[in-house]
Amino acid sequence: MNNFLLKALAYDKQVRIYVVRCDEALNEIAERLNYYPSALAAVGRVMAFTTMMGGMLKLEETVTVKVEGDGPIGLIMAEADAHGHIRAYASNPHCHFEYNDLNKLNVKQTVGSMGYISVIKDLKLKEPFIGTIPIINGELGEDFAYYLAVSEQVPSVVSLGVLVNENNKAISAGGFIVQLLPNTKEEVIDALEKKIRNLPTMSELFSSDYTIDDIGKILGDDTYEVVDKLPVSFKCTCSKERFSSGIISLGKKEIEEMIEQDHQANTICHFCGSEYKFTEDELIKLKEQAK
Ligand SMILES: [Zn+2]
Repeated sequence: MNNFLLKALAYDKQVRIYVVRCDEALNEIAERLNYYPSALAAVGRVMAFTTMMGGMLKLEETVTVKVEGDGPIGLIMAEADAHGHIRAYASNPHCHFEYNDLNKLNVKQTVGSMGYISVIKDLKLKEPFIGTIPIINGELGEDFAYYLAVSEQVPSVVSLGVLVNENNKAISAGGFIVQLLPNTKEEVIDALEKKIRNLPTMSELFSSDYTIDDIGKILGDDTYEVVDKLPVSFKCTCSKERFSSGIISLGKKEIEEMIEQDHQANTICHFCGSEYKFTEDELIKLKEQAK
């Protein structure tokens, strides 16, 4: 078990650092739903970013990140809480593209370079916080940095990387977010920019056995301090009860049709692949509650 989320401060508390490793959580969905390498790389990047966004939340708050590009993967969605729990899915897990010359997975072609990214935060207030930006690049790191700068007004650097082997398994997945707090000194920004420019990619760092603690320390300075470190794991929040509410919301007429045509219903969770079966009697009860 090496999947953790690290939160740290550095440069006299002027800079916040988040580093995450989430390949075990990613492989959980890869195995359950048979993801192809490029789809896995794209979902893994969204997963890494969303887990770090979860690290910015408190107690019972949750965050959902939706990437709706014009690429073949369709919608990518990930949800995280403040405790390192993450789940994610893509509408089409079966897509795969490599760069012709580099033998690298082509995330941009998978996601598309037109479309939208939305971040929905349930802060347990009346209304959720929703921020939406257009996709500007499609490789996602730059897109998420753009989201943080524009929607949350926090200048940030986001680096993400997923390495997949020939058996459709993630060898490593993770990333970091470096955020400048208000009034960060110019010389700190210069030093950080130089450091990040010379830094190997996330995948290279993980391949060279750098831990998230090593990466946090490299990004920091001599005032670097770890604020929190928590385990990251896949956790699906689906349940038969939730699917029941989903069926009720379809309305009486549609449930009546299900009963007449199939005498039962099978629902499958996109996030974890769990199946929930409803018998005719159960459907009749749900129909009574529907409008
Ligand atoms: Zn589920």
